[in-house]
Amino acid sequence: MLVAGNWKMNTSIYEGVELAHAIRHATDETTGADIAVLPPFTHLWAVFDVLKGSRVMLGAQDVFWEDWGAFTGEISPAMLAGWCDLVLVGHSERRHILGESDEAVGRKFARASRHGLRVIVAVGETEEERDARHTLTVVDRQLEAAFAPFEVIPDGGAFVIAYEPVWAIGTGRTATPQQANEVCAHIKDRLAQRQGVLGVRVLYGGSVTPENSVALFAEPHIDGALVGGASLRVDQFSAIVTAAAAHAGDVL
Ligand code: PEP
Repeated sequence: MLVAGNWKMNTSIYEGVELAHAIRHATDETTGADIAVLPPFTHLWAVFDVLKGSRVMLGAQDVFWEDWGAFTGEISPAMLAGWCDLVLVGHSERRHILGESDEAVGRKFARASRHGLRVIVAVGETEEERDARHTLTVVDRQLEAAFAPFEVIPDGGAFVIAYEPVWAIGTGRTATPQQANEVCAHIKDRLAQRQGVLGVRVLYGGSVTPENSVALFAEPHIDGALVGGASLRVDQFSAIVTAAAAHAGDVL
């Protein structure tokens, strides 16, 4: 199980450092679930210092697809490699608010992997797409594009997929455990068939709370959560980690 907290564009640097201290302290004794926090870029170095020697991994919320050069405002995987553990690519806010294409997500994924960063690739459908019963087609298209730039497909431990239905992100509406499990299972099948990759962790994301996480984590194909809003509250985030840790030994 993996529980990753996406802080998005929240917290001042002081609040972020305090939150990182609190999360470290609250999760120190919890074994059985991997834990990660994804603060804003400006906080990464300070939070790295706070988390050093702890079980909490550090991740970035995005990354660029080149290593160096004239790309004003961008942060590259070469800059993060060696001290950050993870990067998130393809979050729906980047796809839908900032217009990031499926192709751009693939380029970011491939470049970050090349630097040994573990990549969380987020996929998911909009409400209109779900209503039109296009969920699996959309997810398949996003996955296909994400792997397109690779010459050699990375092994299943090198990346994580986060299934995040757009209509459930930050809305308080969660997919039912069955809906989420069905898509997570489909993603695993699809990766096995199309990319020949096994053993990939698939997270669910979309208004996860301590309350609904218990039923979500009981589903066999949900291997953790990408958490937005609740990751800013140490009590809520650590309760979700505890719920995930309860399924540590689950084997399909
Ligand atoms: C997210 O940012 O990936 C997310 C799932 O947000 P929230 O938990 O707030 O819906």
